[in-house]
Amino acid sequence: MSEKYDVIVIGAGPGGYVAAIRCAQLGLKTACVEEWINKQQKPALGGTCLNVGCIPSKALLESSERYEEIAHHNADHGITVDGLQIDVAKMIARKDKIVSQLTGGIEQLFKANGITWLQGRGKLLAGKQVQVTGHDSAITTYSADNIIVAVGSTPIELPIAKWLDTRIVDSAGALDWETVPSKLGVIGAGVIGLELGSVWRRLGAEVVVLEAMDDFLSSADRDVAKAAQTQFKKQGLDIRLSSKVAKVEASDDGVTVTYNDAKGEQSVVVERLIVAVGRKPNTAGAFADDSGVQLDERGRVVVDSHLRTAVPGVYAIGDCVVGPMLAHKASEEGVIVAEQIVGQKPHINYDAIPWVIYTHPEIAWVGKTEADLKAAGVAYNVGSFPFAANGRAKAMDQADGMVKVLADATTDRILGVHLVGPLASEMVGQAVIAIETECSAEDVARMVFAHPSLSEAVHEAMLAVDGRALHAVGKKRK
Ligand code: FAD
Ligand code: NAD
Repeated sequence: MSEKYDVIVIGAGPGGYVAAIRCAQLGLKTACVEEWINKQQKPALGGTCLNVGCIPSKALLESSERYEEIAHHNADHGITVDGLQIDVAKMIARKDKIVSQLTGGIEQLFKANGITWLQGRGKLLAGKQVQVTGHDSAITTYSADNIIVAVGSTPIELPIAKWLDTRIVDSAGALDWETVPSKLGVIGAGVIGLELGSVWRRLGAEVVVLEAMDDFLSSADRDVAKAAQTQFKKQGLDIRLSSKVAKVEASDDGVTVTYNDAKGEQSVVVERLIVAVGRKPNTAGAFADDSGVQLDERGRVVVDSHLRTAVPGVYAIGDCVVGPMLAHKASEEGVIVAEQIVGQKPHINYDAIPWVIYTHPEIAWVGKTEADLKAAGVAYNVGSFPFAANGRAKAMDQADGMVKVLADATTDRILGVHLVGPLASEMVGQAVIAIETECSAEDVARMVFAHPSLSEAVHEAMLAVDGRALHAVGKKRK
């Protein structure tokens, strides 16, 4: 038996590494087990988010958006460029550099906070012991008063479309291609399908996205989803809803995807295929049979509202437990658990967790959708405002989209804010603050926003709840 810790965290993604830092800040002797080996064959911290998720995808979205801007959207500004080229290998190398800097930054934070990084694969044993199998296969067992399980998630592989070299890939594979596919297929019009489909479309690929569901982005507000779908169609992203994939066959000539839609059997031949049909908790093999931790039917760790498992002193957070698979949700859960361990009474408001899809235009929301409110029988008022009437958006040449606010019909409390448009990812933060502080639409309508700014659209949508938007004609309510 080796060293004893106050806390051992298993997994160093945004859930686990943040939990470890907060534990160390609170004076707890903390170790974190992490098994990740990166592209350069080195052990790395940061998990899915930093290595193959949030950060690298946003790096490529940025590069590809710049390319598309220069290629297609600058002529009206009087800017033309001859001989425009993209060096995809260089774009990938830039992304890799950002990943290295940020994952290296976590390593520095671990050192600065005195956190021990136990490199290798962790397995939770009975009695709050963690067996760590190092990269050299050496096995060491540690114990701790508290264990935080933060093992994250991995992509779901479809039995009919097994990963195949660079041709049939998951999201991580699609972040590393060094050439642009002529034709790209994507299975799943979810967050990853839309973001990575956008990257490769902007760089010149013809992209077909096959989605099994009849509704586009079913968890988003219907008006926002419809507005986004219209924009994606204009951009040439070929999204085929109600398309159930039946067979995938790869040959030297490409990948043939056979699917069924309302018209019957269809097929499409693509050069490469991304399968982005969701992610599953990475819990297989992480627990000894007698660990006492329970998993649900989807393999998630069962926790109560305080993120406690059935074993006292063992907690679980992030993608491996119930709730949205989002980095900021995982991190906040890490903070909450660390503070609970030292006896504090922290709180997390799951109703105020923002969602962002980093397409162009961006899609973002926080709180309830109209469908949620209807299902719950809550009476509400709607205020919406188009970016087409916002001066800054016009000046930016990004006037597609809108802000939509849902407020309680009786109290005027803001229940949901939905955006599709420029920098929606940044503006949704205002809505988070408004919802978290229980603002009414009138409260925000009475605040002063800088002119000209995109945020004025949020202000106008709040005014529109009461039918008094100033730069759009709406129905006066009072
Ligand atoms: P993870 O980040 O998956 O980390 C878990 C860590 O645990 C991993 O490092 C793994 O190696 C380690 N581990 C697992 N089992 C063991 C074990 N037994 N022993 C030792 N180590 C172990 N979310 C957003 O909020 N915004 C975004 O823009 C966004 N973009 C994304 C883009 C892509 C392409 C993908 C795939 C995901 C994206 N996500 C985004 C989701 C986000 O990455 C996850 O929600 C987040 O990483 C979850 O954090 P986590 O700490 O729970 O798990
Ligand atoms: P997702 O759940 O967002 O989307 C998967 C889509 O695939 C769904 O629309 C689903 O209906 C469809 N689908 C499932 N099986 C199918 C099949 N056999 N044929 C056709 N379509 C099928 O999952 P994802 O895009 O893989 O992303 C996984 C998770 O990662 C997301 O839920 C999200 O939490 C996280 N993520 C977040 C961000 C962000 O916050 N910007 C970005 C990327 C990923």
